[in-house]
Amino acid sequence: MARELEEVQGIIFKRKKYKEADALCKVFSKERGIFTLDIRGAYRPKSKLGPATLNYSFGNYVINTSGKGISSLRTYKNIKQFDQIFNDLVKQAYASYLLDLVDHAFIEYQSLGPTYDLIFTALQRINENIDPEVIKQMVELKVLQVYGVKPQLKACIICGKEQGIFDYSLEKGGIVCNEHFHLVPERMHLNPKVVALLRTLALVRIERLGAININEKLKFQTKKVINRIYSAYLDLNLKSKKFLDELTFN
Ligand SMILES: [Zn+2]
Repeated sequence: MARELEEVQGIIFKRKKYKEADALCKVFSKERGIFTLDIRGAYRPKSKLGPATLNYSFGNYVINTSGKGISSLRTYKNIKQFDQIFNDLVKQAYASYLLDLVDHAFIEYQSLGPTYDLIFTALQRINENIDPEVIKQMVELKVLQVYGVKPQLKACIICGKEQGIFDYSLEKGGIVCNEHFHLVPERMHLNPKVVALLRTLALVRIERLGAININEKLKFQTKKVINRIYSAYLDLNLKSKKFLDELTFN
């Protein structure tokens, strides 16, 4: 396929030095999904492309691409940066894990669909100092379906009831209401408050999340449940996740 110039809206991540003075990074883009970009001469002192492509920069990038392999950067417009993320190790670890998580769910240049806005908004919120642990858990729950896993968190898997006291079953892949606990003996036996928070995190849109303040204990418990859901359904073992867990001491 011929190489063509294309303008994409996207976020730069995983930037590293390449060849003599180039940088190679990944772009998380609206139009072209996730792909690798060569920034020629990015490390030369007078490079104009270099400063516009630091990690967590975002804006419009004009690329030379054939729709596969490495594309190269021609020019850019309206570049900003998630500077709070760039300058904070913990926020950066969260952002890097979330980008890694979606990077593993898609092949290169595959359209991201609604996941683009989900991740863009998540990074925006982390950059605005909203609790990154809550944002992370919301993204983890929402991204599961991209991996082909869709836990039923909206309604009881037996009767479809949407309100009340619930537990979760890994085997059944969904919530069960207290009237039907006896039909699902293998349920997780979770504190109903934990299930309620899990449902909120899964069902509420990230945009609608205000300056929330969630009980630390409860938040730690939902984190453990999400980890269990991930290890029951997927085999990921992401280094960025391990790094984040080490950094946040659990
Ligand atoms: Zn039920």
